[in-house]
Amino acid sequence: MQRPFNFSAGPAAMPPEVLTQAAAEMLDWPDAAGQHSGMGVMEMSHRGKEFISIYERAEADLRELLAVPGHFKILFMQGGGLAENAIVPMNLSALRAPQGAVGTIDFVVTGSWSDKSFKEAGKYGQAHVAASGEAGKFTNIPPTSSWQLHDNASYVHVCTNETIHGVEFQTLPNLKALGSSSALVIDFSSHVASRPVDWGRVGLAFGGAQKNLGPAGLTLVVVREDLLGHALAICPSAFNYKTVADNQSMYNTPPTYAIYMAGLVFQWLKRQGGVAAMEQRSLAKANLLYEAIDKSALYENRVDKGCRSRMNVPFYLRDESRNDAFLAGAKTRGLLQLKGHKSVGGMRASIYNAMPLAGVQALVAYMRDFEQTQA
Ligand SMILES: *Cc1c(COP(=O)(O)O)cnc(C)c1O
Repeated sequence: MQRPFNFSAGPAAMPPEVLTQAAAEMLDWPDAAGQHSGMGVMEMSHRGKEFISIYERAEADLRELLAVPGHFKILFMQGGGLAENAIVPMNLSALRAPQGAVGTIDFVVTGSWSDKSFKEAGKYGQAHVAASGEAGKFTNIPPTSSWQLHDNASYVHVCTNETIHGVEFQTLPNLKALGSSSALVIDFSSHVASRPVDWGRVGLAFGGAQKNLGPAGLTLVVVREDLLGHALAICPSAFNYKTVADNQSMYNTPPTYAIYMAGLVFQWLKRQGGVAAMEQRSLAKANLLYEAIDKSALYENRVDKGCRSRMNVPFYLRDESRNDAFLAGAKTRGLLQLKGHKSVGGMRASIYNAMPLAGVQALVAYMRDFEQTQA
């Protein structure tokens, strides 16, 4: 059976092989040697040897896939990206502040997500907008030379892929080269594992799993060890990165089933050739779709070519009265969840790792056919 192609921005499509394996293991999870446990993963103690083996393999596979250096901890948390908007400043805002003083944080606002992060952080620190793409309606990334960074900022926050506006950093900012000693914090929720990460430039990366790694409920945090242990006194223990790290993400019960599912995705990614292969595939998919949009008279994408997202492709019909017809026709062709985010309207095709090239080819063919019927 050919399942429809699902372009959801998140929770998003998962590889069918992963869903099939999870279904087969639902009632009785077997270990790598084929030994049956007699339990489903949801029913296991997080401290039992079965789940520990699932956890350790998931962590090791992720470390290998993302090439995470040894001096970074991988934390499996809960609360999603929005909770991290508070958890990050509760842990890091005091990093470079004098004892007892409120810390300074710089934000580069390139769309809805970094704007949300900026607003939440103001509860925990002196949050500043160092640069903003708002004047250009979030269709570009302000050049790093224009960023107004504070010397004493504990960290600089950047959302490296804006899921709603479709704006992606093609390289990470090099804060050192900009004369800054602040840590770089990246929200990589919606493009993690689609391209390599230059860890030499990063202090902390976080992301919800439900875009490109697995189901909702799991939040990934990758944090450099020297950034641990600076949490504000008000920080809940379960959200203190040092506490979480010291307890191998088991200070409280972790989202066991979501970790298992993400672990299956990591194994799938390795079988596909890892992040390097995903990057090549993403480029092929994104190029095909942007080219179709740019060549057409009906569709348009408004993002500067240098920072168009390979993962989330927002586009508009120049005749917006055709939106409902476009979506209805897409559905009959097995192309699901193409409606744009309510805050920006139009359409959005999210083409994460689990979207095969065939899905983008089917979308492009439909877009061409729809445009021809309009002529
Ligand atoms: C989806 C998303 C979030 C929010 O994640 P939640 O799990 O809903 O809290 C944050 N940042 C980015 C870039 C996202 O795409």
